[in-house]
Amino acid sequence: MKVFKFGGASVGTAERIKTVGDILKDNANEKLLVVISAMGKTTNALEKVAEAFFAGDKDSAISLFKDIKENHISIARQLVNNADGNSADTAYLEDFFTEIEWLLHDRPVRNYDYYYDQIVCVGELLSTAIVSNYLNNAGVPNKWVDVRDVIRTDDNFRDAIIDWTFTAERVKQQIEPLFNGDTIVITQGFIGATDENESTTLGREGSDYTAAVFANLLNAESQTIWKDVKGVMNADPKEYKDAQWIKELNYREVIEMAYYGAQVIHPKTIKPLQNKNIPLFVRSFLHPKETGTCIHNKTINQLPPIIVYKQNQALVQLNSRDFSFVGEGLTAELYKMFEQIKFKPNLTQNGAISLLCVVDGHAEKINELAMEASKLFDVQVTKGLTLLTIRHYNEGLVKELCGEGQIILKQQTPETIQVLISNDK
Ligand code: ASP
Ligand code: MG
Repeated sequence: MKVFKFGGASVGTAERIKTVGDILKDNANEKLLVVISAMGKTTNALEKVAEAFFAGDKDSAISLFKDIKENHISIARQLVNNADGNSADTAYLEDFFTEIEWLLHDRPVRNYDYYYDQIVCVGELLSTAIVSNYLNNAGVPNKWVDVRDVIRTDDNFRDAIIDWTFTAERVKQQIEPLFNGDTIVITQGFIGATDENESTTLGREGSDYTAAVFANLLNAESQTIWKDVKGVMNADPKEYKDAQWIKELNYREVIEMAYYGAQVIHPKTIKPLQNKNIPLFVRSFLHPKETGTCIHNKTINQLPPIIVYKQNQALVQLNSRDFSFVGEGLTAELYKMFEQIKFKPNLTQNGAISLLCVVDGHAEKINELAMEASKLFDVQVTKGLTLLTIRHYNEGLVKELCGEGQIILKQQTPETIQVLISNDK
């Protein structure tokens, strides 16, 4: 059996959903578990609903949700036209809408992250229900599964951790029997549920990870992520004009890329696949005949330089107050602060009497960190910087990419170089 994952862009319009249908038809003789994200930018739109609701602006929340609802109904209708044109039955979506509308009429009494998950999870429920219904009508029989009955998580809302033991049991009991007879099972990425049946989410872009969890538990022969690009590129083509497609990568390289901030695949995706040696394909749903990128366990020589830009970075300089050394004690305190604030340095460098941390330019978190840290250090923050990471670099390329920028900090190993650049002259 194989696991397919389709992202938001692949189900953003009725036309695209038909393309997904064609890909599934071509693979209809396989046992397939298909994980689908919310349509297009639905998750962002639902985040706005959650924010308005939590801010007490019920009217905006309801009105924003109405737009999302109409958009989904419209796509569902375009996909399944009855003889008279547009009276396609969309009653199968009603329960999902009602659940959210009820919630929006209440007042928030719990924390934001809880409501976020109860609201945002509907994006995946709607998209999968629409795709499943379309396919059943288009001669591609499939079964729709509410993944919240299968993926059990803790209640760390918005970044929930999967209970693997419970989930594995559910996959055995509820998913495996569905594959008796060649069939397609369609389910949601990104969401799960607690033991109290509260919805949870696994972190933005988490559908790749959900697919990998299923691939692992079902001992899949492979996982394929269908995207709107040809495969994994060595740089973001918007940032680097000579970006090239990479045919083959290994798990380790992809984990490194994700760690340094390449927007390739959700960082948690690789481990469940690596642990069972399941190859991951990244392919384009626009060019399904092309092979895309294959990610596996083998050693690969001759990789092109891999380039990752992180914009909007801040340098936090922590200097000891009285010229005393910054030893393990102070360093440990600092890491504790990071952990408490749930903030991660993207790069750190230690000196005799100072510590340098490069972090995302998240104003609130930086303030929190600076406040806490100023109890122990003199703190100085510089914003608006760019962190450039190049793996498999050469000096010529480093020079070219740093351009006129002023280099504030540099760190390198034989494999990877990181340069913090300021564009202020
Ligand atoms: N729909 C979710 C998001 O946009 C999950 C995903 O697409 O993987 O983050
Ligand atoms: Mg997505």
